[in-house]
Amino acid sequence: MTAQVVDLEFSRAVAGGANGNIFSCYQCGTCTAVCPLNVPVRSIMRGAQVGIRELAVSEALWQCATCRQCEVACPRGIGITDVIHSLRGISYGERKVPAKLESALWRVYEEGTAWEGKKSERGRWAEGLNVKVGKPAKHLLYLDDAASFDPRLQRIAQSLVRIFNATGVDFAVLGDKEKSSGDEVYQIGEEGFLEELATSNIESFKGIGAEDIITVSPHSNGVFRDVYPRYGSLPPVFHYTEFLSGMLDHGLLKPKKANGGDGLAVTYHDPCYLGRYGGVYEEPRKLLESIPGVKLSEMDDNRSNALCCGGGGGGMYVESEGARPSHMRVSQAVESGAAVMATACPFCVLNFEDGAKTVGSSIKVRDIAEIVAGLVGNGGG
Ligand code: SF4
Ligand code: SF4
Repeated sequence: MTAQVVDLEFSRAVAGGANGNIFSCYQCGTCTAVCPLNVPVRSIMRGAQVGIRELAVSEALWQCATCRQCEVACPRGIGITDVIHSLRGISYGERKVPAKLESALWRVYEEGTAWEGKKSERGRWAEGLNVKVGKPAKHLLYLDDAASFDPRLQRIAQSLVRIFNATGVDFAVLGDKEKSSGDEVYQIGEEGFLEELATSNIESFKGIGAEDIITVSPHSNGVFRDVYPRYGSLPPVFHYTEFLSGMLDHGLLKPKKANGGDGLAVTYHDPCYLGRYGGVYEEPRKLLESIPGVKLSEMDDNRSNALCCGGGGGGMYVESEGARPSHMRVSQAVESGAAVMATACPFCVLNFEDGAKTVGSSIKVRDIAEIVAGLVGNGGG
């Protein structure tokens, strides 16, 4: 058996990239117990603390969906995802990155998107719609990669266009000039390229002159809010559920009665980057409850305890083995008695639709934008 080498320089490097908080871990193992992706978090923390690379740097790092479920449970309040991020940066520096994630990174270099697609086709989702592209507007609608290129997810962006047009919102999109937010670049730990990408995006945003940025995805929302300020200033960033919730407050959005009549049972899944990262729990629920005929039911795990879909942290690009958390989450939605599983994140939509097929459920998976878009009429909702 080979002796484990203690490398204190390594330990200091991890701590330096993780706000220093690795040393308060007292190895209780709660994080490992709650992780829906079976990441051996306690061992990783131990390896980072005492400088044992083999414990801290392994393929398991890349299974982490950065969902923060472990952080909510950690009795020491440790920023575990900061530690994972720091370790990923070290791992990337040693060229130890899953091949599919590295391919996604190359696509961002070459085509400006982590999702499959060509930069010249990025704006196609808006063909035939009444949308200002690259022109000055009060609000900038930012799609990011998945909603720009995936035909299923384009429907979310198209739904928002429908809502905005029906309610007289002055907005623009960047079309082919939009580039990846760089969330995956950040998750891989390629900070040099992230700076280049963020600087370029911030310049594009200035061209619209919008007073705020409305994101389709909680993931772009997170990287704009938490990481971009290192590279430049940008206007306030809102997830679209926050924006629409504000419209409700001002009487600018009045959804009509839900298709399906009275008592349509809907449950809401909190996306990790909207809830645990952004603290946005009530606005999506308020939107659903504003729809006449909708009866909102909660799953057992909700708000800060919501189970992750597995799509964050680069998880959409990495194969995971065994039972997926999205399958378990769909089962929870079915148990809640809902006919519709609503969420507010493109990754969640894809993962739960896949999960519903796998568990053989007929539950409908819908983004809140899609639900609301079908219920706004002409002239002011
Ligand atoms: S839950 Fe917190 S204190 Fe316990 S092992 Fe995990 S990181 Fe350490
Ligand atoms: S952030 Fe989520 S996926 Fe990652 S280790 Fe913590 S609980 Fe597991």
